[in-house]
Amino acid sequence: MSNGNDGFNAEIEEPTREGDWPKFWFFNYIQILTMYGIYLVATQACLLTTLFCMLLISLGVIGVTAGAHRLWAHRTYTATVHLRIFLMICQTLVGQGCIYNWVKYHRLHHQEYCTNNDPYNPSKGFFYSHVLCFIRKTTPEQEELADKIDMSDLEEDAVIMFQKRYYWVLYAVIMVILPLYVPLKFWGETFLCTVFVVGWMRSGLVLHLSWLIHSATTILGLKKGERYPLDTNAVFIINKNYWLQYHYLVPWDYQTSEYGNYGGDYISKFIRVCAALELATNLRTIDSNGVKKALEMCLETKKNIKDCLLEVYDSTSIPIDHYLKPSKFYNI
Ligand SMILES: [Zn+2]
Repeated sequence: MSNGNDGFNAEIEEPTREGDWPKFWFFNYIQILTMYGIYLVATQACLLTTLFCMLLISLGVIGVTAGAHRLWAHRTYTATVHLRIFLMICQTLVGQGCIYNWVKYHRLHHQEYCTNNDPYNPSKGFFYSHVLCFIRKTTPEQEELADKIDMSDLEEDAVIMFQKRYYWVLYAVIMVILPLYVPLKFWGETFLCTVFVVGWMRSGLVLHLSWLIHSATTILGLKKGERYPLDTNAVFIINKNYWLQYHYLVPWDYQTSEYGNYGGDYISKFIRVCAALELATNLRTIDSNGVKKALEMCLETKKNIKDCLLEVYDSTSIPIDHYLKPSKFYNI
């Protein structure tokens, strides 16, 4: 969003990104293997195996969203070393590369939002930002920009650098060996169900949940001019709203859910519980009055709205226990 381009109406030139064929075949196979895993859940697998799989998926989502995204990419709160180790282990459970690299490309995505240098460019539509961008190599320009991203805060974090250095060992133990060992050892699940449900199906589902962090804005976010009642038109868990776009304006707000919710998602609640246990501190957010002040400042000073929001946040003292009474913009 650095260039002020909202992206959705921008004229798009096709960037030259070569196909990444090993990834192309891997992602194709994983879809088929996931489908077979779903079939086994419906026909053969123990209920405990399915519940165990759901638990691992939930922990993986916590690792990517509360960890890689909200803590390390955007610094929406600070965490003790115990919480950081827990989140690093959870993120390793998704098996999608180390946190360091995830954060580097996510920061590049925010910096170059909806331009040709955005590796996940949502202005190219859902299919591109959800799947296609991952089966193409990044361009030399994107690599050059990624190398310039400031990663000094992560380089000072021993937990991150430990995971980066020993990623493949951690991957083998946390992502593969332990999850497959548990159903075989403790409730006598068959080898077939263990491999396809806890192995492939879990990897396939968590892959889509992780890809949605970059693509959900194209299906759940409102486009310019679209009008929906704010957060009141939920159909089961699906609703369209502005929270996804809000994230690109206020990426430092810990309450913005990656999937189109604000404050009420289980990741925000998880962060609040961690704060109550004194594992997380300095939770950053802004309430409705803060947003009003920032809008007034923007009109008066003609400064960038992002800078005004940050200035208001810096000059406002949010009560230390605010996480127990989260603000909701739509209550005003
Ligand atoms: Zn983000």
